[in-house]
Amino acid sequence: MAAGQRVLVCGAGGFIGGHLVRRLKDEGFWVRGCDIKQHEFQGTAADEFLQGDLRDPEFVRTVVEGIDDVYQLAADMGGAGYIFTGEHDADVMHNSASINLNVLDIGHKAGVKRFFYSSSACIYPAYNQMDPDNPKCSEDSAYPAEPDSEYGWEKLFSERLYFAYMRNHGCYVRVARFHNIYGPLGTWRGGREKAPAAMCRKVSEADAGGTIEVWGDGKQTRSFLYIDECVEAVRRMMEGPFEGPLNVGSEEMISINGLAELVSDIAGKKIRIHNIPGPLGVRGRNSDNRLIREKLNWQPSQPLREGMEKTYAWVADQVAKATVA
Ligand code: NAD
Repeated sequence: MAAGQRVLVCGAGGFIGGHLVRRLKDEGFWVRGCDIKQHEFQGTAADEFLQGDLRDPEFVRTVVEGIDDVYQLAADMGGAGYIFTGEHDADVMHNSASINLNVLDIGHKAGVKRFFYSSSACIYPAYNQMDPDNPKCSEDSAYPAEPDSEYGWEKLFSERLYFAYMRNHGCYVRVARFHNIYGPLGTWRGGREKAPAAMCRKVSEADAGGTIEVWGDGKQTRSFLYIDECVEAVRRMMEGPFEGPLNVGSEEMISINGLAELVSDIAGKKIRIHNIPGPLGVRGRNSDNRLIREKLNWQPSQPLREGMEKTYAWVADQVAKATVA
């Protein structure tokens, strides 16, 4: 399958993109990566890495040349501290929509055969996620639409864009709705980090018996998927026959305070949790994997604790290095 195929990973300097490049290389693809920045934590495994801005059509023309498959992961993106404050709404919408408009249209015209697009659980309507114990996130519950962030609205627009190209231009399109992907080699500080990495950093920096701050009352729920599981799902989706959007997440739901306790336990530190006001997002969210199980026979193979152990070890190492430097 892989022999001779040339793939492009947009967002290869980012967390999921960096891991996906490695996986595609391991499978024998020729891989071109592109991103506006180099990867922060590792050298690229790609055969070729082009640095530039995907909002710029000229750059997009260069990166799609000679490419069979595109994995489009580039986005103006961050955790709750970035996308739920409202301060970055215009950038998030303009930047990510421009990237998708460019990559899809220019890629299609240049002869790209297949597109993978990374959408998000943030497209699901806020009204189905008010109860932390019973969120509804089945693929068919996306409409009537009411995402709780502009980030979610842009993702929904771009999903529709890809599907419109599938209907009108016959493009091969696969769309995943990722639910909180986490693991080593992801942003862990600076404002764009997401809850699992932030929690690992806070616990790692705290003294035993100390206190960490957690946003909200801590009863809000989420599920988290380890990066290797995500990459496996992406590859199954790309090669599989199912054409509709699919959730890629874990069904092991946990409260945010529960996540903090899990990390404290992994670290072997007794930590007190101080809940403070902060940007939150919806009350409850969990992946619904019924459709992807049925269509692709995929489900996560490891519990949250196992992935968090690996993530904590990596973040704690980063914290230690940063302290020495
Ligand atoms: P990330 O921020 O680590 O990676 C995104 C990459 O896009 C970054 O390296 C960034 O530099 C690049 N980028 C941004 N603007 C660009 C531009 N104008 N030109 C070129 N490159 C640009 O994020 P990630 O966690 O790896 O997420 C990858 C994709 O998956 C994103 O589209 C994100 O919205 C989606 N997603 C991620 C999660 C998650 O939990 N990580 C959940 C839902 C959806």
